Amino acid sequence: MRHPRLATSFALLLTFLSLALPAPLPVVARAPDYPAPDARYHSYPEMVRHIRQVAAAHPDIVRIFSIGQTHEGRRIWSAEISDRVGVDEGEPEVLFDGLHHAREHLSAEMAIYILDLLAGRYGHSTPLGERVTKLVDSRRIWVVFMVDPDGLQHDLTGSPYRSWRRNRQPTPGSRAVGTDINRNYGYRFGCCGGSSGRPGAWDYRGPRPWSSQEARAMRDFVNSRVVDGRQRIRTHITFHTAGELVLWPYAYTRMDRPSDMTALDHATFRAMGKAMAASNGYRARQSSDLYLSDGDLIDWMYHRHRIFSFTFEMYPRGGSASARHYPPDEVIRRETTRNRAAVLYLLERAQCPYAVVGKRAARLNCGPLFDDFETARGWRADPWGTDTARDGRWQRGRAARGTFQLRSASSGESVLVTGRAGGRDVDGGRASIRSPFFRLPSSGRATLRLRYWVGLGARARAGDGFSVHLVDADGRRLVTLLRVRGDGHRHEPRWQSLVRALPARLEGRRVAVQLEAVDTAADAMVEAGVDQVRVTRG
Ligand SMILES: [Zn+2]
Repeated sequence: MRHPRLATSFALLLTFLSLALPAPLPVVARAPDYPAPDARYHSYPEMVRHIRQVAAAHPDIVRIFSIGQTHEGRRIWSAEISDRVGVDEGEPEVLFDGLHHAREHLSAEMAIYILDLLAGRYGHSTPLGERVTKLVDSRRIWVVFMVDPDGLQHDLTGSPYRSWRRNRQPTPGSRAVGTDINRNYGYRFGCCGGSSGRPGAWDYRGPRPWSSQEARAMRDFVNSRVVDGRQRIRTHITFHTAGELVLWPYAYTRMDRPSDMTALDHATFRAMGKAMAASNGYRARQSSDLYLSDGDLIDWMYHRHRIFSFTFEMYPRGGSASARHYPPDEVIRRETTRNRAAVLYLLERAQCPYAVVGKRAARLNCGPLFDDFETARGWRADPWGTDTARDGRWQRGRAARGTFQLRSASSGESVLVTGRAGGRDVDGGRASIRSPFFRLPSSGRATLRLRYWVGLGARARAGDGFSVHLVDADGRRLVTLLRVRGDGHRHEPRWQSLVRALPARLEGRRVAVQLEAVDTAADAMVEAGVDQVRVTRG
């Protein structure tokens, strides 16, 4: 047994020691700072102090947190701004980030400005205050202030600056330091001549995708916003300098619309990009029109998560390298305020980005369920563990051409399809797949729409075929919306549309769409494919 008083004195001693000794810091004690003429810029410690003050002054709408650590051990500070911070209310979410590149100082000021704008105007009865209040109340807003604080602090050790762009991570097998974080993301990494594989190059992409902790921190945060198979973040801007440009994906290819972007998404990107550029006087274009880059953030954000993700290249439009990256601090206020309208626009559009294309696009694509199968959105094969088919289960992806298989997609490049590997049709029973659950509108009509094809061999019997149902959380079929049966004739697959009004008795119910393909015998051919599943209001 320990002597209680001794234990107390020991604890006191420990407390004394921990107060008296500095905590072990991975960073040098005297942090590099901006020179006096640029004092209005925020170094990393000044940014941290500033956002702490804002959070302390507005605790009900601002929460600060770290999404992870940098190579040198700095925290990558972020803010959540919403009317109920820390609570997931299912609101549309929007992400902003700054300073992927160390020397692009103005981009961090932009991120800080967004926090100041939203926190500072919330609850004000001016027109701007009312607009901000409405957005903070109806959105969950995330701001990552400095993705590369290690690089920034290094940049500040120059006289006055080092023109440093990358992070501060050593390169294995080389004396070179620094990976370009915005070439280190995992989609089309190093694919296309849009980054350098040479350690020390200004756009060195790193030895492999996600080799930088900073890119991994961004990835893990964005991945964590997938709830029930749906990505909550709808819109995003990553701020850089310079060039005065609004850029949309893709950066890896000069093709306007390669097969990994749908026509609808392309039209939406263009319309949103042009609207924002009209508000700030930037020029709007596809990212690769500036120059090709691969492994960048917006390509990954769009491809992996279908987020409407933009790069802003801020002030100035041109000039020497030092003029481009190091504008005087007198311009901070003007050049951040210049983007206020674009930021508010992006926040407002997060409710339904497709609305910029028109009312019909909004109705079709922002209802209770929309899936074009270009990314994984939480469908589950054999959801009840009751499938009996030995072969040909449902999968999401590009269809391969086989007997009775259509290789095309109805939009983009991916579909839900049975027996995705060619020649493996459904055999020996039932194969099913179910959407995530969603709630039907509590009043008014709802409609299910989908594109599908069915291929049936002449041996398929009446018990074989393809069907579409709504099911409840216990797997009970609530309504059957389509049934295609074998009838002794060969049915060639071709894309068709299904449009069915949902029965009024299901108003307000939590349901899922379930697809089933059945081949009771092994000798008949049964294949099916589905794309663009929508449940809409009206
Ligand atoms: Zn940049």
